[in-house]
Amino acid sequence: MDNYDKGCKPAEDPFAAALNWIEKSVEKQGLSRNVFEQLKSMAVFAEVAVPVEMDKGNINVFTGYRAQHNDALGPFKGGIRYHPQADPGKVKALAVLMTLKCALMGLPFGGAKGAVICDPLKLSPGEKEKISRGYVRALAPLLGPQRDIPGPDVGTDALVMGWMADEYGRLVGKNCLNATTGKPLELGGSLGRQEATSLGVVCAAREAARVKGKPLNTIRAAVQGCGNVGSGAIRLLHEENCSIVAVGDISGAIYNPGGLDIPALMDHVRETGFVKGFTAAEPVSNSELLTADCDLLIPAALENQITAANAADIKASIVVEAANGPTTLEGGELLREKGILLVPDILANSGGVTVSYFEWVQNNDGFYWDINTVNSRLEKMMVRTFQAVHSFAGEKCGGDLRQAAYCYAIRRIAEAMRCRGRL
Ligand code: NAD
Repeated sequence: MDNYDKGCKPAEDPFAAALNWIEKSVEKQGLSRNVFEQLKSMAVFAEVAVPVEMDKGNINVFTGYRAQHNDALGPFKGGIRYHPQADPGKVKALAVLMTLKCALMGLPFGGAKGAVICDPLKLSPGEKEKISRGYVRALAPLLGPQRDIPGPDVGTDALVMGWMADEYGRLVGKNCLNATTGKPLELGGSLGRQEATSLGVVCAAREAARVKGKPLNTIRAAVQGCGNVGSGAIRLLHEENCSIVAVGDISGAIYNPGGLDIPALMDHVRETGFVKGFTAAEPVSNSELLTADCDLLIPAALENQITAANAADIKASIVVEAANGPTTLEGGELLREKGILLVPDILANSGGVTVSYFEWVQNNDGFYWDINTVNSRLEKMMVRTFQAVHSFAGEKCGGDLRQAAYCYAIRRIAEAMRCRGRL
């Protein structure tokens, strides 16, 4: 792959880091080198032009990408991001993580990711709809419910997924609600999809706390990020009587050692959009939030937050990676040396793709589940996967959950490749 060079130390780049872990896991399990050779390449990488007539009458040509990483386990699955800084490297890195997450959770999907370079905040709804439909038209031969199923990601939402499913259905001449996931409920979306990633994160935190012999209701937590995933996790942890002592977002962070008033904080964030300015707490910097005195740290914002520069100062005994790639290789190594239990992203934040899978199953069946069924099936799968990874980590990986999760996922992918005659 472009920016991966075996032998040199991977930079703080999530793609290089994921490939590094894949390579180690292949070697550790004595799998054929061919497994790594196939997993370090994209099965397909497409770049398309999406011409759109803007509201002012001019035509803008947007660039779209779709990275389809590996489909040994089933159709490609992964979100589409609308972002001004979307680039092929990030899209490919996220596609690799999707392959691993799906395999780890036992979902019959491979991994993919897509993006359009645009600023969704500067687009009218009509322009956004035209981009979404144009993207599907440009990539239609590569998409479909048995080929590649997009879902929402940063800058896209249920409406975008509804437009995409509708456009795909028009192109193939039949109703295809199963062509995308994360759709509005009225268009075959699943109950529970909105909060699925947060619920998965909290299940992972609960299991990790159990391992440490500390029930969630005795734990003090700090959460970086108060968006979709972070705010849902905060609310669910609060419902489990966990004390949230620090919360941060792009505006800054706040800390109250006695525990934040979460309902009041959530009202404040709803009204102002940000954590900053919440008065019943001490303002702190985002780096102070990461090293705050607490038991559980949940990075739920950005990549590369826990690094060689701050890992030694982290006081939490459990880190649950809600964000993708929040810990660098060196940061993770330091946490391990300190005996901190780290639940890796491919396990901790896989609740979203798991409920996307539930949505696809419901669309295929035309029969819809109630919220308790969705949530209890998700919790069962999270707990089962956590426990399998934890025991494999204890037996074979010196307690390292990331190494164990990668080994687990890669073994499944390699087995599927073998059965398909690809090895
Ligand atoms: P979001 O855009 O809704 O929220 C991101 C949060 O991070 C916001 O509160 C923002 O203010 C904060 N943030 C941004 N820059 C920051 C900075 N410099 N310092 C501190 N905070 C900052 O995004 P989200 O959907 O909640 O996703 C968060 C992370 O979880 C991402 O890494 C994403 O890839 C990952 N993830 C999300 C899902 C999902 O279902 N939404 C699934 C799997 C993984």
